[in-house]
Amino acid sequence: MTHSTSTTTSAALPHNRLGINYRSVPPRKIPGLIIDAHTHTREPALTREFLRAADAYGIGKIWTMAPLEDVDALREAFPGRFEFIAIPKWQNLGPGEDFIKEWRRRIDEFYARGSRLIKFHNAPGTQKRMGMNLDHPEMQSIMRQAYDLGYHFMTHVGDPKAWFGEGKKYDPKDGQKSFIEQFAMLDRMLEKYPDRIHLGAHIGGSVEELELLQGRLDRFPHYILDSSATKWIIRGIAQQPLEPVREFFIRNQDRILFGSDLVVGEKYDFDHYVSRYWVHQQQWETSYSGESPIDDPDAEDGIPRLHGLNLPAEVLEKLYRTNAEKWLFGKVLGQSSVS
Ligand SMILES: [Zn+2]
Repeated sequence: MTHSTSTTTSAALPHNRLGINYRSVPPRKIPGLIIDAHTHTREPALTREFLRAADAYGIGKIWTMAPLEDVDALREAFPGRFEFIAIPKWQNLGPGEDFIKEWRRRIDEFYARGSRLIKFHNAPGTQKRMGMNLDHPEMQSIMRQAYDLGYHFMTHVGDPKAWFGEGKKYDPKDGQKSFIEQFAMLDRMLEKYPDRIHLGAHIGGSVEELELLQGRLDRFPHYILDSSATKWIIRGIAQQPLEPVREFFIRNQDRILFGSDLVVGEKYDFDHYVSRYWVHQQQWETSYSGESPIDDPDAEDGIPRLHGLNLPAEVLEKLYRTNAEKWLFGKVLGQSSVS
């Protein structure tokens, strides 16, 4: 039914259905380098192409969830460019003791390499494969280990709201937690560690539920957000009346950090990487109103949309730079200035 509009674009590239020249970088609303607080890079050879894209779009320092095996090499190849967020060995993901044992070891190894932020990925799908949610005693004990070392926390607990419910990807009949239950679990974690920063990835997984999210931000002053996940965030914003969303970003301007969620991989090229930065630039800096150039299988009627928020310059300054300097480099890493 929806295919009549997509036939003309079906041959187009998934990251560029509108044929935009991403290499011609639109003028920036504010000057200066941007900090990307959420990426997934890999070994230097693969990461180099991503960095060419980051350079083109004025991205300076980058926080990454690179595998432990790549940390030293990335640091050596690109001195001062990356900060590392502790993650488990995802190839081990499973309900067994191996995954947990290895994760515990990695928490120490990342710490020894200077990491002070640890990511807990506990979306319903991951939860199922791991056989543990955030309330699980084993998970609680891992959190405690990280806390005792001095880590701050980062979580991904939500997923697009449209994935939850009967007949959906996260069906309660399959024993999946509901959207509300996922976030009740997050609240318990936030209550437990009020003296550590807690970064909620992907607008705290709640871009479609900004009122609930506002309540969480109000209750937990240590909770901050990153803007990462291009398709999801762009779609979530475009689905709503723009003004309340804009107000949300202005009201919480001290607590939202720019992030792309770019994943480095063999299958991606320069144009794929810059497509995300191009779309984010339109989202935050402009009043662009129309189709998004990035294909989105979850788009309501098959047509991805992008509605720019045209945030004020002083808000962009915080989103792009000073919030990451204050929260991540300052509070998490304890640095008094970012060189
Ligand atoms: Zn991510």
